Amino acid sequence: MDFSFSQDERMIRDMVRDFADGVLRPQVQEWERRGEFPLELIPRLAEAGLLGMSIPEAYEGSNLRTPSYCLAIEELARVSASAAVTVSVTNSVCGYPISRFGTASQKDKYLKRLARGQILGGFCLTEPGAGSDAAGIVTGYRRAAGKFILNGLKSWVTNAKIGSLFIVMATRDRRERGAGISAFLVESSFPGFSFGRLEDKLGLRSSATGEVRLDDCEVPVENLLGEEGKGLAIALHCLTVGRVGIASQAIGIAREAFEVARKYARERMAFGRPIASFQGIQFQLADMATEIDAARWLTLRAASMRDRGIIDFSKESSMAKLFASEMANRVTYRAIQIHGAYGYSKEYPVERYFRDARVTTIYEGSSEIQRLVIARQLLAETRSNAAD
Ligand SMILES: Cc1cc2nc3c(=O)[nH]c(=O)nc-3n(C[C@H](O)[C@H](O)[C@H](O)COP(=O)(O)OP(=O)(O)OC[C@H]3O[C@@H](n4cnc5c(N)ncnc54)[C@H](O)[C@@H]3O)c2cc1C
Repeated sequence: MDFSFSQDERMIRDMVRDFADGVLRPQVQEWERRGEFPLELIPRLAEAGLLGMSIPEAYEGSNLRTPSYCLAIEELARVSASAAVTVSVTNSVCGYPISRFGTASQKDKYLKRLARGQILGGFCLTEPGAGSDAAGIVTGYRRAAGKFILNGLKSWVTNAKIGSLFIVMATRDRRERGAGISAFLVESSFPGFSFGRLEDKLGLRSSATGEVRLDDCEVPVENLLGEEGKGLAIALHCLTVGRVGIASQAIGIAREAFEVARKYARERMAFGRPIASFQGIQFQLADMATEIDAARWLTLRAASMRDRGIIDFSKESSMAKLFASEMANRVTYRAIQIHGAYGYSKEYPVERYFRDARVTTIYEGSSEIQRLVIARQLLAETRSNAAD
């Protein structure tokens, strides 16, 4: 077992670190204050190869190994959690499913454009009445005159309004639950497609999140993704992959919160000494750093299982996402505590890390859903994969 990064992994990490510090850092506070996704960022993300990380090289992507992908998301999230989620969604639940389940003509049509940043992708599973219970969606589809016709409302869609290609899950009959769900590649230009309202969120203020409306939306038959009736399986598979990305996002946020808290603790004086000299502060920093490392290795374990072709790594992916997201909430809470009143002020960035970390225990499966996935597998298996 080797816990060091390969040369490729270091190179990708350093490249994305430079990009995040050089391109994102100077503007991130302003973008977050404006609460709008900066469209001018899309070509920069594409030039840096960040929109094609899950796309094969034949389609101008870089098809990164999963640990490298995790390091890239972590480095972006360290500076901008909003940019990290935009990149994560475009790669893991749009570019990846097309690469994995798409037909040759679907790949030809969409993958290069995604990698080049000519289009941005999104994923529409959640609805106002169905989030964790994904099999309970009611957005319906039927076939008519050589097309699929979709009707329904999707909510909480990352990249709403800025994206133009969405993987939409819809059911032919809600009574069939998961077995009735299919996945469709839906362009925002298709008749019957429109965007609804954008959400006014606690954190990730410069990531666009909103509604997608489908009113007799006409989808060509060739835009069915994978087999009919396999849409939920495709969605859940992509979320298993996506969760290591969200774990990495949480780790990136926590790392930055730790860094600013350590710096502040060394500089802030109380009782005539830097607060870092108090054991109460030292122990907090020690716990923060330990938890960040633990989350990172859980995440890289899940990522490497995927690359080793271990078909079911959902337990490990859920463990990584559960631990990393809850860890990021604890670490950012402590980072504010170490800053005292200044941590509560928008003058310091640490309040943003606290707000941005909050969502990581909710999206791509809440902590409760991760525990269900983990427990279901623990109870089904006789010994743990990890011990193999
Ligand atoms: C910023 C943001 C971006 C998002 N982006 C996307 C996107 O791009 N595409 C997309 O499809 N969705 C997206 N989502 C939606 C997200 O995936 C859902 O919010 C999430 O799956 C939870 O669903 P819900 O909000 O409906 O909560 P609910 O399912 O209503 O759950 C409410 C609470 O009950 C708990 N709960 C539910 N079932 C159980 C159970 N069986 N046992 C124990 N507890 C349970 C949950 O854990 C939660 O605490 C996004 C959400 C946010 C906030």
